Amino acid sequence: MLQVILAGHTLDRELVKALRAGELPADVEPTPETISAAYARISRYPEPIPELRAQARRDVAASRKSNRMIVFRMGHHSVAEHVTLNFDVLGVSRLALEALEDARLCSYTEKSQRYVTFGGEHVVPAEFDAAERELFGRTMGEQIAFYRSAFERLHELQRRRNPDQLRTKVGRETVEGWAKEDARYALGLATETQLGFSGNARNIEHVIRKLRHHPLAEVRALSQALFDAASEVAPSLIILSDPERFREAFGRDVSDAFVRRNRAAIDRLGRETMAGAPPAPAAEHPRHGDVTLVGGSAEPDVEVLAALLHTGSGRPWDDCRARARALDDEGRRRFVREALADLSEFDALPREFEHAWFTLEVVLSAACYGQLKRHRMMTFTAQPYDPALGLTVPEAMTEVGLEAELRALADRSAGTWERLAGRHPRAAEYALTNAHRRRTLVTLDLREVYHMARLRMDHHAQWDIRHVAGSITALARRVAPAAAALACGKDEFVGMCATGC
Ligand SMILES: Cc1cc2nc3c(=O)[nH]c(=O)nc-3n(C[C@H](O)[C@H](O)[C@H](O)COP(=O)(O)OP(=O)(O)OC[C@H]3O[C@@H](n4cnc5c(N)ncnc54)[C@H](O)[C@@H]3O)c2cc1C
Repeated sequence: MLQVILAGHTLDRELVKALRAGELPADVEPTPETISAAYARISRYPEPIPELRAQARRDVAASRKSNRMIVFRMGHHSVAEHVTLNFDVLGVSRLALEALEDARLCSYTEKSQRYVTFGGEHVVPAEFDAAERELFGRTMGEQIAFYRSAFERLHELQRRRNPDQLRTKVGRETVEGWAKEDARYALGLATETQLGFSGNARNIEHVIRKLRHHPLAEVRALSQALFDAASEVAPSLIILSDPERFREAFGRDVSDAFVRRNRAAIDRLGRETMAGAPPAPAAEHPRHGDVTLVGGSAEPDVEVLAALLHTGSGRPWDDCRARARALDDEGRRRFVREALADLSEFDALPREFEHAWFTLEVVLSAACYGQLKRHRMMTFTAQPYDPALGLTVPEAMTEVGLEAELRALADRSAGTWERLAGRHPRAAEYALTNAHRRRTLVTLDLREVYHMARLRMDHHAQWDIRHVAGSITALARRVAPAAAALACGKDEFVGMCATGC
């Protein structure tokens, strides 16, 4: 069952000290809001910051008033970023998590389907009536039964394949983890999970506001629970998401029309405009696996080299671009190798690599989507899950002779989805499995390609995302052979640098 607990928040260090010493005066409230109020005053008051903090601590009512004035009335929303809030989120479905994790500037750590065994706990969507619940419950039962029996067979396979690993506790856990991460392709998007969720007050407000009008009842409940927890501790920073408090504070209504209606309007516009549109003639887009490069910088190598020349030379862009263009392939590679000479696998690339960008259409499983969407610097948009796009089946599942059974289970789950989708187009997705797929559009720059490749092409990464990350990197290397030459997994990195790509 969904539960949101406020786990922690920013607090002025002087308040922490006073609390520890048992010296906090009874009339002083230990709220995070004094930090944002004090920092907001920095821009207009001459006092040193510690004095501004002391003033804010002494008069919480005035701090709250100034937060409301500065953040909301004057529109200086960034002041709210100085307050961080942490939440335990329990009993949330994988599907609802997709909506939450859409917020790019927040932080998440969730229960891994690799390390934790799932006992069948799942969300029962509030949208369904009794008959629909029964149908849905049968599908969930089948999914978890398959997960359990597949796990046994997959575990046996991994134990046979990796006898050396069985000598240590860590090795045994790793082997078990490989079995779990493949068995979970049978689990549904209704599967419950838990996560630690943190963000600053400005972003938390944005999340609450966006999720408040989400088509899934569970997501709307999550929004309400986050609102209740956040507004209890930082009421002066959580106002936009509360129409009543906004009206009280400002004597007018905040317009929620865009967040309430617009997503649905865009979706309807898309459906209507595309209705009857003939398929476009097959385009010659570069492709690798399930990833197609559909757009991006015209000359990514030139853009990156010219940007590097631009920062260092003090010359105008056109001069730098002409010089970068004049270099031959070997000259460009040498330039990039020199520019990245001391790069270790822990260093971020220079910002100039952000000037080359790629737009990719990626067809991927729900299991893989759950991982790729965590790369917050990418621009990520997704179509609903679509059983017509087929399934992603783990190789090990085929090896233990369970592929046909997994396909049959996924087909039955898709049958349930189809029966529910008439009345509940979005909630029906709860019935689909991690093996089902969707089409996504991803735009990312070359700096993020490097980062993603490091983490997701490394041998520690799960195979499904390793394939997708490998395909994205292969396509980036195809069109940017010099600038993308060193993009690879952490484990390959040292060798790659030694051989000079
Ligand atoms: C092997 C493996 C196992 C994993 N297991 C789990 C797991 O069990 N549970 C789980 O929840 N996740 C897991 N993850 C996901 C992982 O924790 C990251 O969320 C994911 O890889 C995205 O990478 P990132 O956070 O480095 O950066 P991105 O989101 O891709 O951002 C790129 C870079 O931008 C910076 N950045 C972005 N946002 C922020 C921010 N808010 N604050 C500070 N810096 C920021 C950082 O420098 C970051 O490296 C796993 C990942 C791997 C590779």
